[in-house]
Amino acid sequence: MESKGPGSWELGVFMEHRARFAVGCLHKQYPEPDRLPEDACLVFVRDGGVCVRSGSTPTIFQETLPDLPEGLKKDARYLGHRGLVPCYAVEVPGDLPLPEGLAYSGVRELAGLIPDEELAVAALAAQIIDYDRTTRFCGRCGAATEPVKTERARVCPSCHRIVYPRLSPAIIVLVRMNDTILMVRGIRAPPGRYSLVAGFVEPGESVEDAVRREVREETGITIKNIRYRASEPWPFPDSLMLGFVADYDGGEVAPDGVEVESTVWVDRDHLPTLPPRLSLTRALIDDWATEPRSADEIKGRGEGR
Ligand SMILES: [Zn+2]
Repeated sequence: MESKGPGSWELGVFMEHRARFAVGCLHKQYPEPDRLPEDACLVFVRDGGVCVRSGSTPTIFQETLPDLPEGLKKDARYLGHRGLVPCYAVEVPGDLPLPEGLAYSGVRELAGLIPDEELAVAALAAQIIDYDRTTRFCGRCGAATEPVKTERARVCPSCHRIVYPRLSPAIIVLVRMNDTILMVRGIRAPPGRYSLVAGFVEPGESVEDAVRREVREETGITIKNIRYRASEPWPFPDSLMLGFVADYDGGEVAPDGVEVESTVWVDRDHLPTLPPRLSLTRALIDDWATEPRSADEIKGRGEGR
């Protein structure tokens, strides 16, 4: 568990969470250059994965290939500057031969193999290429869209509609009751795997309403004292996860049987197998589990800490 700042549990104070897919190493400078700069570093994307140079220090950042077709250079998409070096994502067709030492990999498979900051850039590159490819034509009038050089957007030259990358906000909430938390088992979850209530925010809904609704729909209970804790981008393909803590208010727990198969209140000494570290789910649980024990809990156990 990473150290928490003083007063981390005061209302309104965010939780420290190192979001794995938050891109911290790039800064954007607009307007973008008119054409791909000679000194750009490139991230090659294919089928949602990225190209990795193997070796003692595997990396996703490549210099431009000598025989990179002009068309691919033209469709390179600016990601941001890494220090002084502009970084671009380039979608590469499957039949383009790769020099020795380069190979494609799914983004999530690269976790732990390349530095975390590169993992985040790899996910961003795949996300931006997907956005680019799925918005080439205007959804309103059907004309071909063009990339904008002054922000991350595409514009329709015919009807002037602007299309930004899509972000789908989703909530995840740790519900507390006394010294226990509510965990749910999804219908399709592997055996023994429990998680927290989660779901997408719907149109016309505030984020806090989404938190209340998802808990009610999935488990049948009502909650109170909803507090925001932390967030993380989850670019598979375009989620932004918003993490909350809330207190049980009332109602009988009754899994909906559609998304949630079963539910359980667990105390910190009886947690099931947890999702990997660095996930927001795990961070919310760890944050709760390392909170100083309440007087009641200590009394109930006849032990201190
Ligand atoms: Zn249009």
